[in-house]
This record gives sequence, C-alpha cells and structure tokens, in this order.
Amino acid sequence: MSPTKIPGELAVSFRYTPGVGNTAFFEALRDRGVFLGSRCEDCGVTYLPARIFCERCLAELEPSLECGPEGELVSWTLVRVDVDDRPLDRPVTYGLVRLDGADTVLLHRLLDADDEPAIGERVRAVFAPLREGSMLDVEGFAPVAERTGS
Ligand SMILES: [Zn+2]
Repeated sequence: MSPTKIPGELAVSFRYTPGVGNTAFFEALRDRGVFLGSRCEDCGVTYLPARIFCERCLAELEPSLECGPEGELVSWTLVRVDVDDRPLDRPVTYGLVRLDGADTVLLHRLLDADDEPAIGERVRAVFAPLREGSMLDVEGFAPVAERTGS
C-alpha cells in the first residue's frame, strides 16, 4: 500500500486584512444588504467584491457600484466529504454566481438546488436575518423561479 496521506496537525491563527475595497463590500452587505462592486471604465470590467484598483490596468477604482442581488449560475459542484475526507451528513452544493452588473463571480452555497443545477440558471441571494459583515451575511443563492410545490 502506498501512502496517500501523511496525517498531522498544524495550529494556525491568522488575521486577514480585507483592505479598503473588501471592507466597503462587507459594510454595504452588513448595513444595506447590497453587493458593492467597482467598475473600471477604461477596461469595461466590474469587479465584485469591490477593488480599489483595476487588476488589468491598475487604474484607481471606487467601490460604488451595486450589483445583483440576482445573477446567473456559472458553475457548480456537489461536495460529499469534508476536508479530511469524512462523509458529510448532507451533501452541500456550491455554485459560482455572476451577479447582475458584475463580470467576476462569487462562490457560495446553492440553496434548494436541483440534483443537476442548470448552468445559466437565474439565482438570487438569500440574506441572513442578522448580518455582521462577512460572506455568511448571505446564506447562499436560491433559484429565482418559484417552485409550484407539486
Ligand atoms: Zn482597468
């Protein structure tokens, strides 16, 4: 048997600094329940979450453009095991969503997802009842079309 894993533990504590653009994004999400992006008019690209400079031409950008809350499912995956390869109690579907007005995608849970979500399907953000300024202020994205329940 060849070794495929070398078990070990590494305690890591860290402090992530979101920066000016991401701070504006999370504050808008928390305080107003909106997704804040930045548009570079020179490149014609809208970044979400907001950036303070364009990654293509380095122009200074303002975190000022609201995107979504609806968008398009670009890709998805079904996760059945955790990072330690242990089966999850329930599989989780994650999706890449391009919100209306944005050119970049967000990764989040797909709620009420079909077994085979359709690429291009319209989805809408479902916000948490209490928002604290993190991506968990969004519970995930759910299909826009109303289910008839039959
Ligand atoms: Zn640019």
